[in-house]
Amino acid sequence: MAIRKIRVKDDEILRKKSKDVKEINEKITTLLDDMAETMYDAEGVGLAAPQVGVLKKLVVIDVGDGLIELINPVVVETRGEKIFNEACLSVPGESGNVLRPEYAKVEALNRKGEKIFVEGENVLAVALCHETEHLDGILYIDKVIPDDEN
Ligand code: ZN
Repeated sequence: MAIRKIRVKDDEILRKKSKDVKEINEKITTLLDDMAETMYDAEGVGLAAPQVGVLKKLVVIDVGDGLIELINPVVVETRGEKIFNEACLSVPGESGNVLRPEYAKVEALNRKGEKIFVEGENVLAVALCHETEHLDGILYIDKVIPDDEN
């Protein structure tokens, strides 16, 4: 395993769309391992492949309940609305309020290529949405509610 360099804010790769993973081979599983190690090293709760410079639909999340790996994730259901204070490893030293669903459900593949559903509320719902959006080149800073509107 290896810690990879996290791309930050103005790096244009963060704005590109990631491609579907067609075959889960050793390159992909190594990348997932590296992404988890990189996320834990940076003390983040989630990391998407473009953040380490790879435009593939891969996400790792750990909000304190264990590692979640998502391949080709798609948000299939959301419920509720809540404002969350968010941060991102690609936007160091900043945070901002974003309107997010209270509940989100994602369909994805695990590393064995099996279809899985991951659902969560609050911080996990936010992480599922935030990381999946990275794969479309969207950063939370695009959605921040300015302080004076709260
Ligand atoms: Zn992020």
